[in-house]
Amino acid sequence: MPQHRPDRLSDAARELVLGSGCAGCGVPGRVLCADCEAFLPRRASLAWPSPTPRGLAPPYAAGAYDDLLKVLVNQHKEHGVFALAGPLGRVLADVVHELLADLPGEPVVLVPVPSRGAVVRQRGHDPLLRLAREAAARLRRHGVAATVARQLVATARVQDQSRLTALERAANLDGTMRRRGRPPRGRVVVVDDVLTTGSTAREAQRALEADGVRVTGIAVLAATRRRR
Ligand SMILES: [Zn+2]
Repeated sequence: MPQHRPDRLSDAARELVLGSGCAGCGVPGRVLCADCEAFLPRRASLAWPSPTPRGLAPPYAAGAYDDLLKVLVNQHKEHGVFALAGPLGRVLADVVHELLADLPGEPVVLVPVPSRGAVVRQRGHDPLLRLAREAAARLRRHGVAATVARQLVATARVQDQSRLTALERAANLDGTMRRRGRPPRGRVVVVDDVLTTGSTAREAQRALEADGVRVTGIAVLAATRRRR
C-alpha cells in the first residue's frame, strides 16, 4: 500500500489553487487518485474521547483526524471539493456498517448533527448532509435500508468552540439542539465528520433522547488523537 507522503501536501494545495489534481497528494488528474483512494480506511473502530461525556453512545471512527483523512475532510468541507463526497461517503458507510455489525437487517436512519445556518450559507453547501446522503446511498446498494433524516436543528447561538476545554464545550452546547419531524423508524445513528471532545455528538444524542428517540451509536469519519 502506498504511504501517504506529507511532503506532497503542499503540492496538493498548489494543484487545488489551480483547480486540478488529487486532493490527497497533488498528482495531476482525478480529484482523488487511485493510490490515495486505496489508502483510505475500510474499517472502523470505537473511538471513545477522553474524558468521555457521560452517557455517550458508542462512537465509531474510520481513523485518526490526521494525514489523508484530515486533508480530504477539509478540502470537502472548507473548500467545496464536492467530488470528495463520494469517497468520504464510502468511508462513512463503512463506519456505519461496522457500528451495526451485530444488528443486521434493521433499517438505519442517519441523523447528521446540525450545521449552523450561517456556516451553511457562507460555504454555500451543507457538507455533512452531502456525506450522509452518499453514505446512505452506498449502504442501500449493499442491502441496508438506510435513510437520512435531518431530525436535528440548532436552537441557540453557540460560541466558537475551538478555544474551549472539554467541560466548557459541553456546557456551551447543552440545550442547543432540538429534534423535529416524525419519529424515525429504525436504528438511529448520529453522524458527524470529526469527533473531538464528543460534546457535539452528546448534545445531538440528548436532543433525540429527550424526545424519546434512542440512539444506537455515533458514526464519524475521523476522531482527533486525544484518545483514552
Ligand atoms: Zn493522490
